[in-house]
Amino acid sequence: MEKVLAEVITIGDELLFGQTLDTNTQWIGTQLSNVGISIIRRTTVGDLREEILKSLREASQRADIILITGGLGPTKDDITKQTLAAYFDTPLVVNEQALQEVTALFASRNRSITPTNAKQAELPQSCTMISNSMGTAPGMWFEQEGKVYVSMPGVPYEMKTMMEKSVVPMLKQTFKLPVIYHKMIQTAGIGESWLSDKIEQWETSLPAHIKLAYLPHYGRVRLRLTAFGENYQTLEKQVGEEVEKLLPLIQPYVYGFGDLSLEEAIGQLLSKNHQTLATAESCTGGHVAHTITSIAGSSAYFKGGMIPYSNELKISILGVKKATIDAHGAVSEQTVTEMAQQIRTLYQTDYGIATTGVAGPDGGAPQKPVGTVWIAVADAQHTYTKKLSLTQDRGLNIQHTTINILNLLRLALTGMVDIKS
Ligand code: AMP
Ligand code: MG
Repeated sequence: MEKVLAEVITIGDELLFGQTLDTNTQWIGTQLSNVGISIIRRTTVGDLREEILKSLREASQRADIILITGGLGPTKDDITKQTLAAYFDTPLVVNEQALQEVTALFASRNRSITPTNAKQAELPQSCTMISNSMGTAPGMWFEQEGKVYVSMPGVPYEMKTMMEKSVVPMLKQTFKLPVIYHKMIQTAGIGESWLSDKIEQWETSLPAHIKLAYLPHYGRVRLRLTAFGENYQTLEKQVGEEVEKLLPLIQPYVYGFGDLSLEEAIGQLLSKNHQTLATAESCTGGHVAHTITSIAGSSAYFKGGMIPYSNELKISILGVKKATIDAHGAVSEQTVTEMAQQIRTLYQTDYGIATTGVAGPDGGAPQKPVGTVWIAVADAQHTYTKKLSLTQDRGLNIQHTTINILNLLRLALTGMVDIKS
């Protein structure tokens, strides 16, 4: 089946000045891929007539569907509507339905319509009006030479409602769309290039209609399988078969599927086992506890945390031996081991986890440069430790340490901790 290709053009000076993040394209991307439309390009242009015209002309050379957001406000800086009228060589005329809807919207807010807002009911004559139930600027649907152009407001909630209520159903009616099926596999504890080495043969033997993408993010890599076809169940089955072949190759790294986060996966494991957890964090300053408690229901397994940042508190409150810190330093395997064991004992939990390191950018030493971090997971029988050699960037180090300790805990919880990662 032929792919149906779309491009997105987002319009607005604020998007180029960096004042507003273009979240519309991201959201539209998800919606279109759900219904089998492939986005091949996105363009952002300012509120400039020539740039808008040029981007329309170019997009029409490549795509079947051109989705436009922004520049539909009633003020003078927004010029998308006038520019579309010029592009399609059609006059702006009052659209009766649009006028009624804008008037009704104002009446529902106990206000009479202003001349500026009345102008929003003027639309290019050749377009089909699309109702905007969330605001005053209607959307516009144009068809020309087999291509569809849709112009929508820039305000995200107005655009989203319009897409869901009108645009997506209209696109489904207009085009014969393939089915796209996505399956996301979540991995942690392995970089993308090592991962790709492990699955190279499997990857090259994938059928042509199933594509693999690597999506790395802070110590995790999501593997996304995307299949194109005509029948959802068939694709689901085919992708499922490929996943069955894949999993044995990378088993210790896979922690879940779909949108599952590492902290959710850990929560599920601890809940299932009726086990509890406590944290002793030095270099992460509470970030690990924050991440764990961002999951609803974490009170079932998370008993509490401590942030013994100074050596004094590591000794006096947590109970790390002074001799240990004197002999090996605060950033050491010996100290992190005692931290994890002590918090477990003090808070009476099944697991104790601990972090200590040089987050940076200052404080490094030749033997312990910035980015040196020790993490530990203690249970009743064992304490598992790991040394991390991270970056010069404090924020990144905190993020990476958090992911690493959560992953070490996951491996401990699933009995896979001895598998070298
Ligand atoms: P406009 O339709 O140009 O009047 O846009 C109204 C407002 O919507 C802007 O001030 C932005 O705050 C927001 N907006 C416009 N385009 C986008 C976009 N691509 N992503 C997120 N927000 C946007
Ligand atoms: Mg604007």
